[in-house]
Amino acid sequence: MAGIYLHIPFCKSKCSYCNFFSVVSEKQRADFLDALKREAVARKDYLGGEEVRTIYFGGGTPTVLEALEVLKVLEVLRNNYSINAAAEVTLEANPDTISKEKLLEYKSLGINRLSIGIQSFFDDDLQYLSRKHDSKHALKVLDWAKEVGFQEVTIDLIYGIPTLTDEKWRKNLEIFFSTGFNHLSAYALTIEEKTALGQQIKKGLAAPVSEEKTIRHYEILVEMTENQGFEHYEISNFARPGHYSKHNTIYWKGEKYLGLGPSAHSFDGVSRQWNVASVKDYCENYSFEREELTLDDRYNEYVMTSLRTNWGCDLNYIRDNFGEEYVKRFNILTKKHILSGKMYQKDESFILNDKGMLFADGIASELFV
Ligand code: SF4
Repeated sequence: MAGIYLHIPFCKSKCSYCNFFSVVSEKQRADFLDALKREAVARKDYLGGEEVRTIYFGGGTPTVLEALEVLKVLEVLRNNYSINAAAEVTLEANPDTISKEKLLEYKSLGINRLSIGIQSFFDDDLQYLSRKHDSKHALKVLDWAKEVGFQEVTIDLIYGIPTLTDEKWRKNLEIFFSTGFNHLSAYALTIEEKTALGQQIKKGLAAPVSEEKTIRHYEILVEMTENQGFEHYEISNFARPGHYSKHNTIYWKGEKYLGLGPSAHSFDGVSRQWNVASVKDYCENYSFEREELTLDDRYNEYVMTSLRTNWGCDLNYIRDNFGEEYVKRFNILTKKHILSGKMYQKDESFILNDKGMLFADGIASELFV
């Protein structure tokens, strides 16, 4: 199983907390689409002919594209890759670029999953994050997604926002449950120093994030999603059974994926590569960097990504792919985390519980070679 990610680097405006590669000017939009199709053709052997089960338009804001533009990109993929007839095809959608007609058109060309960036149903939170949509429009977009007939819809919410009280966070989750959608991605607000929000906080112009509040919101999130029958299958991802994101699961299971577009990353099983993070260079002078992964690198990545999930680290996988020495080391180093009540063992798998997931990055780095 393999996946294709396409990075659409345009946004209507830059959100103050955003650390993704995106630009506001669409001057090079036509050139970018040509370059994207060129790259798709040039790299058609990257996945070694493996069947493509997922396609993911991310960004940036893929919904700045008209349906016809998305269709032409999909045609190039269908003509050059072996794409499963039932492939999951996801489009990230920003409410400020969505109309009902646009959703109808996307659906008719084969997009079968939407990932909608709601972030909060309260306008003061959206203003803090400098998002361009308001909660009224966000609710309309969710209604349209239902009316148009999208079966698979996930929304993004952010918690730990200084303006978001515990009560409002509960309300955000209740509104999400009332939609009946089967998947939620909920992220803790993290402040990167280089972002506009990072600078505002540093200068005392915006309220800082409180760690206690973030932990409280995480606990509310875990409890409320569990009560509603959602599985906490990755640190930030919750789904009803049978509705996990197939595309993101490719990343977490260490399977191959091809990343097209500026700044996009690719993985072929033994090496990683990432495209230049500039629309101009991507269009006029395409380049990428590449890193061969050593056995230790691959082991560390496996530990880091699998510990984020509810299937955890599998000793058989470690034995088969890395050898008995790695198994011994893993067994010794995990003892302390089991004793501290953050990790448990189920058959051959080592899994972080909800409390442990809060510390996943730190625990993983202690297990690294
Ligand atoms: S819409 Fe998304 S990608 Fe674009 S600036 Fe905002 S957070 Fe970043």
